[in-house]
Amino acid sequence: MEIIQKNKIKRIIIDIDYTLITPNYYREDVFFKEQKLYLKETPHVILTEYEKRYKRYTKKQLLYFMNQYSTEPIDKDFLEKWMVFTTELDPQDVSEVVETLAYLKEKKLDLAALSNWFTWVQAKKLEQVKMLSYFTKVYGGDYFIKPHKESFLLASGPYGMDECVMIGDNPIADIKGAENVGMPAIWYTEGREEEDYKKPKIKRISDLKQIF
Ligand SMILES: [Mg+2]
Repeated sequence: MEIIQKNKIKRIIIDIDYTLITPNYYREDVFFKEQKLYLKETPHVILTEYEKRYKRYTKKQLLYFMNQYSTEPIDKDFLEKWMVFTTELDPQDVSEVVETLAYLKEKKLDLAALSNWFTWVQAKKLEQVKMLSYFTKVYGGDYFIKPHKESFLLASGPYGMDECVMIGDNPIADIKGAENVGMPAIWYTEGREEEDYKKPKIKRISDLKQIF
């Protein structure tokens, strides 16, 4: 297995949804139905398509894109309402993750969060679970969408690619994306063994304490 050269690493870049926290995607269908909007695909599928097509999120582009999937017109106010809805988190135990962030900070590592959804929404989520203060910066998809190279170049901040490490649950967006710019990456397998995967991986976020 390749190893992370921990003495080189200055910034840890971490994905948010399904890495640090569990989002409320599964409730989105209900949210849309309550608003009497019927989509041809689930919001999550639509966003995945959007992310394949565009390099960044803008409200205008997203509105145009969403309307192609909707039987009723979606307007700006609805989009805003939906974004606010996505800031809501279900109660969840994040103590192990928060402890790990505190540990990494204590080790003088710089932390940045890199996510594909809007920055203000993601920052609000991190704030709710008391994680926001650990991060120097939060970069969302309104800057650039992963796995586009630009998102990793931006999230590296003042550091070189080999001074950063990306951590995330998505093998394409997080891991391949980082590797494409020469940034080391650690795949968070969400508890699974994934024995066939020979590159750096962790089963739990707290496993980072063994690496750094
Ligand atoms: Mg994720």
